[in-house]
Amino acid sequence: LTLLGIESSCDDTAAAVVRAGAQGGEILSSRVVSQADLHAAFGGVVPEIAARAHAEKLDIVVEQALAEAGVALGALDAIAVTSGPGLIGGVISGVMCARGLALGSGLPLVGVNHLAGHALTPRLTDGLEFPYLMLLVSGGHCQFLIVSGPDDFTRLGGTIDDAPGEAFDKTARLLGLPQPGGPAVEAEAAQGDGTRFRFPRPLLDRPGCDMSFSGLKTALLRARDACMAEAGGLRRQDRADLCAGFQDAVAAVLAEKSRRAITAYLALAPAAPALAVAGGVAANGPIRARLQALCDETGLTFTAPPLRLCTDNAAMIAWAGIETLRAGVDPTPEQLVARPRWPLDSGATPMLGSGK
Ligand code: ATP
Ligand code: FE
Repeated sequence: LTLLGIESSCDDTAAAVVRAGAQGGEILSSRVVSQADLHAAFGGVVPEIAARAHAEKLDIVVEQALAEAGVALGALDAIAVTSGPGLIGGVISGVMCARGLALGSGLPLVGVNHLAGHALTPRLTDGLEFPYLMLLVSGGHCQFLIVSGPDDFTRLGGTIDDAPGEAFDKTARLLGLPQPGGPAVEAEAAQGDGTRFRFPRPLLDRPGCDMSFSGLKTALLRARDACMAEAGGLRRQDRADLCAGFQDAVAAVLAEKSRRAITAYLALAPAAPALAVAGGVAANGPIRARLQALCDETGLTFTAPPLRLCTDNAAMIAWAGIETLRAGVDPTPEQLVARPRWPLDSGATPMLGSGK
């Protein structure tokens, strides 16, 4: 199977061609055009600007992906497109583009849940066996999932407020560091003492896998102001120590909640127990190291796909399309309803008219 994947649910316009292999998949091409500079002046993604930019860029990105892969449209087996969740204007742009291509070429069309794309990535890169445990930790999401099949996800818990990536970004803003905040805070933290400030580790006293990160920024703001009042400005070392303390708190919460998720997951007696991480925050060195140590201790394989496949891309959409087709889902066009919200554990197959 060789599929074209199309992704436009946030601020990246992406297209990719992926071929199914014996184990995992082969990425023949993967193009990602970021709109970040278009939105930079507004301090966040502007939906109308995003939708228009997707509509302008989709054709060319698709053309480039096909050319780079050396595959003609007619040689594909199907087209997969993100049909939710996301900013609805962007999702509609992608779905319209995919529908046009499918109608013109007579190819089947598969609607893919963007989060399923992220969650199935370790199967594309490492051929991970079902069921595996997934920690999806990005700018907009933070959740534990047991992935038992391409359309079978059990959510064990997740953040009840901010996502960790968002917390990294806010921390960077509060400390005058550049965006995206994650890499900047990580670099500062490497120079700092993580034990000087002890930031809250919310919900650790409660059972389950739910997490909270919004209180962290309030604590950080208070500590920053105390430092500034004392020194008449933010000293370099204070900033580094604040970053280290913040990162340590996030890592501690993710590790402790992962421990609980692992216990729940191991109750399923998986043949090849594995924890996979995905999302931008999975790029963080100290966070990865803690999860790796936890896996070593509990006998799990730890998998972290390369960063370009952790953040938004279309290779994961093409791959999820391959998995969906293999599972025997009928790729009918009426499945293709663009959905702004689409919880993973409601089933990865799009349902008509349900905007849950
Ligand atoms: P989503 O995919 O959930 O809709 P998104 O597209 O914003 O959200 P990603 O692109 O997966 O998320 O990740 C971006 C986030 O990852 C940003 O918040 C960024 O600060 C964070 N991030 C990137 N690198 C690091 C790092 N080294 N440490 C911590 N966070 C990081
Ligand atoms: Fe994403």
